[in-house]
Amino acid sequence: MTDRHGLLAVIAGPSGVGKGTVHTRVREALPDSVLSVSVTTRPPRSGEHDGVDYRFVDDATFDRLVSDGELLEWAEYAGNRYGTPRTPALEAVEAGLVVVLDIELQGALQVKERHPDALLVFLVPPSFEELERRLRARGTEDPDAIARRLEWARRELAAGHRFDVEVVNDDLDRCVDEVLRILDEARRRGADAATG
Ligand code: 5GP
Repeated sequence: MTDRHGLLAVIAGPSGVGKGTVHTRVREALPDSVLSVSVTTRPPRSGEHDGVDYRFVDDATFDRLVSDGELLEWAEYAGNRYGTPRTPALEAVEAGLVVVLDIELQGALQVKERHPDALLVFLVPPSFEELERRLRARGTEDPDAIARRLEWARRELAAGHRFDVEVVNDDLDRCVDEVLRILDEARRRGADAATG
């Protein structure tokens, strides 16, 4: 029964660290986990679908979500705004699911401040050079956008210690196993705290 306890978990890390793949693998391994779908003012990339990858909104809609208190956290990143819809995330945690947030640093810290029970996992690359290589190889951004993301990654890496735990994504299988073990432990702790 202990593993039925809900959990709000942030799995973050700099752009290019392999977050997307880790998220996919964690969700495959944990049938009672869900990925929170964020809202963003960023335009869709090719292959992205509204309501699946993000809810793509205009500035006015984002402003309204903020002023209505409908976002659990939000942040500006590389010139666009991103936020986590509050109600679906909290309802799913209440229902006993693991709700996984793929968000950047400032948002992660807001989550922890508002929900101290949340677990913050920070994925780190084996080295900065490796991160740069992966980001360029991905080929989804132009050179300016890559430069902005690398600049941001430097700042994020320097703040990783503010997370509950850092996991090195050196080997995907090993990294995913470690994340799963950490999530499981956090759920058990939550369940123990609830039953006293
Ligand atoms: P991308 O544009 O590559 O999809 O995302 C850029 C950054 O925004 C990534 O680090 C991603 O984790 C972060 N992000 C995505 N959704 C949210 C959100 O709802 N809140 C915050 N704070 N960051 C987000």
